[in-house]
Amino acid sequence: MSDIHNVIIIGSGPAGLTSAIYTARANLKPLVFAGLEFGGQLMTTTEVENFPGFPEGIVGPELMQHMIKQAKRFGAEIVHQNVSKVDFSGEVKRVWVGADEYKARSVILATGASPRKLGLPSEQEFWGKGVSSCATCDGAFYRDKVVSVIGGGDSAMEEATFLTRFASKVYVIHRRGEFRASKIMQDRVLNNPKIQVIWNTEVLEVKGQDVVGSLRLKNTETGEESDLAVDGMFLAIGHIPNTKFLGDAVELDDQGYIVVKDKTHTSVEGVFVGGDVNDHRYRQAITAAGMGCMAAIDLERWLEEKGVEVDTTADTYTNPVPA
Ligand code: NAP
Repeated sequence: MSDIHNVIIIGSGPAGLTSAIYTARANLKPLVFAGLEFGGQLMTTTEVENFPGFPEGIVGPELMQHMIKQAKRFGAEIVHQNVSKVDFSGEVKRVWVGADEYKARSVILATGASPRKLGLPSEQEFWGKGVSSCATCDGAFYRDKVVSVIGGGDSAMEEATFLTRFASKVYVIHRRGEFRASKIMQDRVLNNPKIQVIWNTEVLEVKGQDVVGSLRLKNTETGEESDLAVDGMFLAIGHIPNTKFLGDAVELDDQGYIVVKDKTHTSVEGVFVGGDVNDHRYRQAITAAGMGCMAAIDLERWLEEKGVEVDTTADTYTNPVPA
């Protein structure tokens, strides 16, 4: 059974790495496919001020480095490759990285979701320098500043309302003449004196020196272009769960998120899920980490209940913290 791993974890954001820490400490020697770009969304975040344990805050990439070190310390094996396809139809789960096949008794899926972007080169250029997709994470940096929120769904309403706690003015820029958000969320925005809605408008370009200074806008009805001075642009145009590589291996909802059947167990026995690839409500580093922990504990108990034979020869507690 040596070529069959106890557990394969796919993803290396807070969910995947917390699963790795827990399963490694349970002596299960997890194999983690971290992706070519490890660390998930926090790798593109600057200061993280809401992750407990860091009273001064911590920059996103540093937090992820800590998590990966912690997982390695307990014996998690980290492979910096993207999983290309899976087959969960048999008792032994199969995972491919290109032509290389890996097998496991169980799997934790923690591939996250990526914020949908407008697709503008300037949006990429100013990412983390005034362009963000998380008001909860970055809103506090905009005290007494002018910010914009792009989108017309519940997320845009929520982000805009949240940002009024800090910003002096919040523009909601929406490409149509009506919101798709629920009425109660819309009303909060429409009745908030700090918020001004700019209807039927799309963003053509993000402009600025080192940080965002203004947006080039186009009215979709008249074609008229204009500049709007803002200090920040928050994207709230939806998320895309990273589930394409799964095909129909597990049940997904109509938006492509992984469905849970029992606690963190997916539609396939022995396959568990943690983090934003399942959760489109909270989407926080701390909630993803919490779900990663839950998936690891559910998996350990499932292995035990099923009497699945696992290799527990890992010498978990003797590893030094890696440099
Ligand atoms: P969403 O409902 O899909 O809304 C996305 C918004 O972004 C839409 O208004 C859409 O415009 C706009 N948009 C999409 N692509 C765009 C583009 N390329 N350029 C400009 N605008 C674009 O996404 P969401 O707001 O993130 O919500 C996702 C789900 O989570 C929903 O089911 C929502 O109800 C739920 N949610 C609930 C809460 C809550 O209850 N507290 C909070 C947040 C989210 P169009 O309208 O023109 O398509």
